[in-house]
Amino acid sequence: MSSAETTPSGKKILLAEPRGYCAGVDRAVETVEKALEKHGAPVYVRKEIVHNRHVVETLMNRGAIFVDETDEVPEGALVVFSAHGVSPAVHDSAADRNLRTIDATCPLVTKVHQEAKRFARDDYDILLIGHEGHEEVEGTAGEAPDHVQLVDGPDSVDRVTVRDESKVIWLSQTTLSVDETMQTVSRLREKFPLLNDPPSDDICYATQNRQVAVKAMAPQCELVIVVGSQNSSNSVRLVEVALQAGANASYLVDYARDIDLAWLEGVQTVGITSGASVPEVLVRGVMDLLQEHGFDGVESVTTAQETLTFALPRELRPARTK
Ligand code: SF4
Repeated sequence: MSSAETTPSGKKILLAEPRGYCAGVDRAVETVEKALEKHGAPVYVRKEIVHNRHVVETLMNRGAIFVDETDEVPEGALVVFSAHGVSPAVHDSAADRNLRTIDATCPLVTKVHQEAKRFARDDYDILLIGHEGHEEVEGTAGEAPDHVQLVDGPDSVDRVTVRDESKVIWLSQTTLSVDETMQTVSRLREKFPLLNDPPSDDICYATQNRQVAVKAMAPQCELVIVVGSQNSSNSVRLVEVALQAGANASYLVDYARDIDLAWLEGVQTVGITSGASVPEVLVRGVMDLLQEHGFDGVESVTTAQETLTFALPRELRPARTK
């Protein structure tokens, strides 16, 4: 933890570190930017490239057109697939319409797709822990629909049935609460003692790191503000983790203007973090607003350093010179 500046009011901000953009989001946003530079507008994007309002609106202003499905994209046009991944059926429907595609699926989501394919090939029942309706879950389940069952939290374990209890594996969405997922796994294991674990963590490094930082920060805060959008799974989880870790209150905001000043009454220490799809400029906006209201000490709570980066999709990498 860095040293705090002392302030007359004693009111201070704690800043969780790491927070904000992860390697997969950085790559996905840059993919759309580079596609616009290289091919010109419009560039179609299936679903929100990442779950953040500000990012989506900024890219729309630069010429990206967001659609729900590939059948909304004109024949032969260019479409980018979002960081959350797509099922083989989506690739097929894009091919049927002669779309040119660039796949911005995060490599850590692709890893879970590969696991699903591999265990389906070996005829396992795959119990995919995740949130019903989330795009990532739809993409992963679509790799092996006959083998995958969705398990949406500990309470849905009772409904799970399998064909052969000796061939069952759990996998998960990348952006879940680590603690809640472990509760779900232990309920599954009570029911299926031979349950196999994934070959490596499916909950990604960025999700885990942001939750660890919030857990360290929250007990020192009366209020934790999480910057992120309502449809961002990892951001919503950060609010839950903050409350479980001891913050009196925690709220999710897209922008500083979403903050209700009544939240600040009687508060001496506000913690701030942001989801993996949130640009730092939005965190700066929240800090500016808090500083205007007397929170002029800033201290960071650092639990990890992140250095991971991912190469752009092949179609957008610079051509090699001979
Ligand atoms: S949150 Fe994790 S899985 Fe999702 S884009 Fe970021 S690094 Fe990839």
